[in-house]
This record gives sequence, C-alpha cells and structure tokens, in this order.
Amino acid sequence: MTTRRRFLGSAAAIGGLAAAGLPGLALGQEKGGAATAPAPEPGGHVLAPLPYAYDALEPHIDAETMMLHHDKHHAAYVKGLNAAELALAEARAKGDFANVAALEQQLAFHGSGHWNHVVFWNNMKPAGSGPASPGGPLGALIARDFGSFEAFRAQFQAAASKIEGNGWGALVYHPGLGRLYVVSILNHQNYQVTGSVPILLCDVWEHAYYLKYRNLRADYLTAWWNVVNWADAEARLLAARRS
Ligand code: MN
Repeated sequence: MTTRRRFLGSAAAIGGLAAAGLPGLALGQEKGGAATAPAPEPGGHVLAPLPYAYDALEPHIDAETMMLHHDKHHAAYVKGLNAAELALAEARAKGDFANVAALEQQLAFHGSGHWNHVVFWNNMKPAGSGPASPGGPLGALIARDFGSFEAFRAQFQAAASKIEGNGWGALVYHPGLGRLYVVSILNHQNYQVTGSVPILLCDVWEHAYYLKYRNLRADYLTAWWNVVNWADAEARLLAARRS
C-alpha cells in the first residue's frame, strides 16, 4: 500500500487517468475499494475470530480440530506474514537485500497461508443451513466450465485427494481469462494460475482433518461438502467478476 500511495501521490494527472476510465486509479478507491480487509501497516495483520462457534461444523469437522486449526495454525501464518513484512521493511530501510529471496518466499508462504484460511473459514457454515449445491451465477458458470455440478465436484474431490503432502483443493476464477478452474495448490501458494481469485478452498493439510479422520482424507473431503457455504463462494465470484 505504501508503494501505491507513493505512486498515487506522484501521479500529476491522476484526475485525467481516472477520467480516462483506467481502473483502480481514482483517489479514494484504495479505501474499501477492493473486496478485502483494509491494508494495515507492515506487520499489522491480525487474526479475526471464526465466523461461527468452534463446534458449528460438527459432526463433519470436530470442535477440537477447529480450535487448534484456527487458534494455533492460522495464528502462526498471521505471525509469519507480519514477520516477513517487518523484515522486508527493515531490509529496505537498511538497503540490505542479502536475504530478499528467502524473505519473499516467507511472505508468499505465510501471506498465502493467512489468506487461504480467511477464505476457508468463510467458505464454510453449519450443515443444513443452506443449499447443497450452488445456484445462481456460480451454478451457471460451474455448469458452463465443467459441464455439470457433479463433474465439477468429482474433479475437485479427485484433485484435492491426490495432492501429495500439504495443500489445498481450490476452485478459482480468473478475471482475465474469464473462466473457473479447479487447481491443486501445493503448500499454500504453489501451482496456481497467476491472477486467479479463490472462490472455494478446502484445506487438505493433515492438521485440517487428522484428529477425526486420521489418514482418510477422502472421507474428510466427502464430509466437507456438507458444510460448504455456497452463498459465500458466489459472493467471491461476483466480486472477482467486478474486479
Ligand atoms: Mn490449515
């Protein structure tokens, strides 16, 4: 954000650029213009509480898993993101970029880890409190890009099941390419199409399911569909299409 403010401050013809219809250049748009949280100062990210109780997703996801997952694992990614931002700010202040590659790797890992979990928590809701499959614009786009909801679900579940080690099953929308894709994200950040916006994420790190499902990741995935919040997924699609 600092870079952006600097850019905006030095752009003499900002009114002209905005008037020319170039997206994102209107002054004031940086405040709440994007469908994300307000940008804090470097190192200022905080862990928001879950949008529901720890036991809200029972019996599909148990309360102990949710508590550890949110309070310990997610918290560690927020801490790691803050540490990376502060270390990069210090490197800039000192003009010492000896560790810049490692710091940027940490930024990518923890920043993606933090954001994936924000999306993941909001992608879920108590079972039975909404439709079991998406309707509306998301349902229509899934049908267009995957053939049917059933075909999408089968591809998503297979991709998430087959991730070797840690990762995320993901439905993403790419505003530039104009399509939905199912991708398998390795760790928190690898193997994505640049510019993709997460619509629906499923954490398949072992910490997401091992207490209840042990080694049976496929059983966890099958249960997980019961707690998907399709209204949240659709809101993410609509926001991505506006971007
Ligand atoms: Mn996780």
